Amino acid sequence: SSYGFREVGEDEKQPLVDAVFHRVANRYDVMNDLMSGGLHRLWKDAMVAWLNPPRRPGWAVLDVAGGTGDVAFRIVEASHNQAAATVLDINGSMLAVGRERAKKRGLEESVDFVEANAEELPFPGESFDAYTIAFGIRNVPHIDAALAEAYRVLKPGGRFLCLEFSEVDMPLLDRVYEAWSFRAIPQIGRMVTGEAEPYAYLIESIRKFPNQANFADMIRRAGFDRVAWRDYSGGIAALHSGWKL
Ligand code: SAM
Repeated sequence: SSYGFREVGEDEKQPLVDAVFHRVANRYDVMNDLMSGGLHRLWKDAMVAWLNPPRRPGWAVLDVAGGTGDVAFRIVEASHNQAAATVLDINGSMLAVGRERAKKRGLEESVDFVEANAEELPFPGESFDAYTIAFGIRNVPHIDAALAEAYRVLKPGGRFLCLEFSEVDMPLLDRVYEAWSFRAIPQIGRMVTGEAEPYAYLIESIRKFPNQANFADMIRRAGFDRVAWRDYSGGIAALHSGWKL
C-alpha cells in the first residue's frame, strides 16, 4: 500500500486482528474515545435509536464483534432492562473486559458473553429478534459468511443493523479525516500501547471496506429486504439496516 505496510491476505487477517485486540483490550474503551474524539458514543446512540428496542421481556438481540459490550449495554438500557442481549466476540480478552463492565453496571442478568467467530455462529437458526454489529464486520475475513450467518440466526421479521466506518463524501472533511486517520490515529495508538503499526493496519482496513452502496448490495445478496443506510459525520461512519422478511 501507499502507507508503507504490505497487503494482508484473507488467511493472515484474523490472527493479526486478534493480536491487536488482545493487546489493547484493557485500554480499548479509552482508545475509542481518543481516536474518535468521543464520536463513537453518538454513533452508537444513533444505532440504538434506529433499532428502537421494544420494552418486551424475552426480546433477544445478538451483538456480534461486541467487544467490551458497549452496544449491548445501550440496547438493554434502552429497553428498560427488558431485552436479553448476547455479546459475541472472537476475542476472550475483550469479552473479559465486557463482563467486568456488565457487573459494574448491574447488567450481568441481562447480558451473556460468548466467545465465537462471526463466520460460524454457535446458535440454531431463527434464534434472535435483532442482530447488531458495530465496527466489527470490517475485521472479519469473510464478510459474506458473516452476513449469511446473520441472516440464518435471525427470526423471520428480524432486524439487521451494522455500524461501520465508511466513505466520506464531503469536500474538506475527507482531507481532514485522511490526515487524522493516517497520521494521528497510529500516533495515539503508539502513545497508549507503545505500537503504531496495528492501528495503521486497522485504518488500512477502513480504506478497503466497500462503500455505502456496495455494502448495501452485499447485505441484499445475503437475503435481507428493505436495505437502507444512514451516514453519520459526513460518512465517516454509516449505519446499514436490513430485515429478514
Ligand atoms: N463492537 C464494539 C464497539 O463498537 O466498541 C467492538 C468493536 S472492535 C473495533 C472490533 C471487535 O471485533 C473486536 O473486539 C474483535 O475481537 C472482534 N472481531 C474481529 N474478528 C471477529 C470475528 N471473526 N468474529 C467475531 N468477532 C470478531
